[in-house]
Amino acid sequence: MADLRRRYLEQALELGEREVVVPAGTGAQGHGGTGERTGAPAHRGSDIADERTSGRADAPARVAEETLAPQPGVAALSSGIRLPVGLIVDVPASRADLFSVDPVGQLATLDAVAGSIDACRKCGLGGTRQHSVPGEGDPRAGFVCVGEAPGATEDETGRPFVGRAGKLLEDILRAIGFQRENVFICNVLKCRPPNNRDPEPLEVQACAPYLHRQLDLIRPKVILALGRPAAHALLATTGSLGDLRGRVHRYRGIPLVVTYHPAALLRNPNWKRPTWDDVRIARRIYDGEAV
Ligand code: URA
Repeated sequence: MADLRRRYLEQALELGEREVVVPAGTGAQGHGGTGERTGAPAHRGSDIADERTSGRADAPARVAEETLAPQPGVAALSSGIRLPVGLIVDVPASRADLFSVDPVGQLATLDAVAGSIDACRKCGLGGTRQHSVPGEGDPRAGFVCVGEAPGATEDETGRPFVGRAGKLLEDILRAIGFQRENVFICNVLKCRPPNNRDPEPLEVQACAPYLHRQLDLIRPKVILALGRPAAHALLATTGSLGDLRGRVHRYRGIPLVVTYHPAALLRNPNWKRPTWDDVRIARRIYDGEAV
C-alpha cells in the first residue's frame, strides 16, 4: 500500500499536480494540513478527533511548499524522496476512497480503462447512472473529441454523443473529412449527472484519471475540447471560452483546440461559423500543416 501511495504521489507530481490529497488515516495530519482545497473549515475523520479537541479542527487550509519525506507519519510513503506539496488535505473516512491511490495510470489498454470505469464508484454517479460511457472510436485515432458528460441517450446506450448534440458533432466531423469511427470521442465525466446537471468539481476530480489515461494511451495528434468544462478539465484553467478559443493550447505536449460544445450550437446557431473556424484549425494540425 505504501508503495502504491508513493507511486501515486510521484505520478501526481509528474503530471504537474499542484495539490496532493492524502486521505485521513495515513498520519498525514501530523504535519498540520487540516484544510480543504476551498479553504473552508476542514472536514475531519474520527481518527483525528485529537486535533478537534485540541482546537485545531477549524484551522483554515494551509497552502505552503512542504516536503513529505521528513514529515512524521508519511515517511513510509516516500522515504528518500522529497515531494514538494502545495496543500495536504485530510479527508473523512466516508470520502477517503474518492482520493485513495488510483491505479488507473497503470491500465494498459482502452478496454481495461473502460472496464475500470464501469466498476468505478468513486463518486455518486456510479450509483445513479444506467450505463457508464467510457468513450468510443479508433484506439489509434489522431483526432480526439472531448465533451462534458453523457446525457440521457448516452446513459441509455453506453455510447458518447449519440443524441442531438451527437448528430451535430458527426456533421462537424464530416465537414472536416472524418467519420466518427476514424476519431475517438469521449467525455470528461464517464457517467451521467442526474438531470444533466453540471458536473461537480469532486466528480471531475474523481473521473479525470480515466480521461488522462485514455489520452495517454491514444496520444492523438490533436485534441478538440468541446466546451468550457472540457477545456477546463484538460488545461487546468478557469478561463472563459472566449479567452480559450482562437489559439492552440498544449495538453501534455499534444496540441489542443477549444471550441463550442455542439449542444451550445443547437441553442445558438450563430456560433457555428466560429466553430467551423476552430475545427478547420484542428484539422490542419492533424494534417501537419499547422503548429
Ligand atoms: N454532451 C456531452 O458532453 N457528451 C455526450 O456524450 C453527449 C452530450
